[in-house]
Amino acid sequence: MRPEFLPFARPSISDEDVKAVTDVLRSGWITTGAKCAELESAFTDRLGTSTAVATTSATAAMHLALVALGIGPGDEVVTPSMTWVSTVNMIVRLGATPVFVDVDRETLMTSPLAIEAAITDRTRAIIPVDYAGAAIDMAAIRAIGIAHDIPVIEDAAHAIGTRRKDGEEVGQVGTAIFSLHPIKTITSGEGGVLVTDDDAFGENIRRLRFHGLGVDAWERGQQGRSPQAEVLEPGFKYNLPDMNAALGLSQFHRLDEFIDRRRELAMQYRERLASIPGLTPLGDAEMTDRHAWHLFIVRVDPDAAGIDRSTFMAALKADNIGTGIHFRAVHTQKWFVDHPDRWRGADLVNTEWNSDRICSLPLFPGMTDADIDEVVASIRNAVPSSPGVPA
Ligand SMILES: *Cc1c(COP(=O)(O)O)cnc(C)c1O
Repeated sequence: MRPEFLPFARPSISDEDVKAVTDVLRSGWITTGAKCAELESAFTDRLGTSTAVATTSATAAMHLALVALGIGPGDEVVTPSMTWVSTVNMIVRLGATPVFVDVDRETLMTSPLAIEAAITDRTRAIIPVDYAGAAIDMAAIRAIGIAHDIPVIEDAAHAIGTRRKDGEEVGQVGTAIFSLHPIKTITSGEGGVLVTDDDAFGENIRRLRFHGLGVDAWERGQQGRSPQAEVLEPGFKYNLPDMNAALGLSQFHRLDEFIDRRRELAMQYRERLASIPGLTPLGDAEMTDRHAWHLFIVRVDPDAAGIDRSTFMAALKADNIGTGIHFRAVHTQKWFVDHPDRWRGADLVNTEWNSDRICSLPLFPGMTDADIDEVVASIRNAVPSSPGVPA
């Protein structure tokens, strides 16, 4: 057994990251200011989009987007149930109804056809998810949004740095939300970024982020907030402090390096787990040119593997190896089971099949090849169907 626990995710914090944060701490300005603006510019420069607004989390960014769209009681929002609860919680909290669509069994992404089939005259938004760092077919989903005059907010929490087959990087076109949570590809401790090519929408998000004031918390010229700012509409308090933004910015410079290492590790897993029946990695999503490899997910199928997921996860844990579940389907969570009137969704067959079987293996840029060897050895030991393991 490994002497040290191997978590399924761990942020890669460099000396530069530490210096970036301590510089802010010593600077006399630690909340939202120049570093937050720099982080936002790093996103708009890379993506060539017009607006980036950094928030305290991707959940906060999604909340602002839904509020800016005016989502409320009687409205429906089409989204997968195979997602993190954060989006769905915000939809429900605004009094709207999430309408869950099923996902592809191999990629965990919703097809444009399934999205279109879920649209009614009450649909006010579509929130597709780029799953695990692969790219969803946004061109087709945008076309549906345009045809039905319904806004699309791309949940790209897993997909910072992901590129589509047509050469477009996620966030370049339309409105997307990234997460800078510590398990995501780059982190600011906690944080999120909404990017949009719709200037008016971006301005609204920026205003809602900070109390709904007519100007932001910090203005370059005067190192502080304009005392004349007034509330244009009731807003929130979701601005990202510079302490966090400095970390996010420092990490942003290493995004491509992180993704390269994640890809190497993922390819090793793919190759070395391929011969184990009943332990099936996700399939390739057709629209993906560059996968960000936020997660490496396998499905543990008890019939073929001879082990169920809980026993599998416990066996790895006994070897000091952490795993995760991304995600348990939202509609199977207690509150949603108890409140079937607050959501809709039929035939979530692939969602439920995967919800019971998915398991995320350790994957982060600081993992060594020896770590991978140990994870693979532990898996081969645990799974009865592994070649060479006595039944
Ligand atoms: C992590 C995540 C979020 C929320 O991100 P936070 O920054 O933690 O709020 C939203 N959607 C998906 C799919 C996620 O994985």
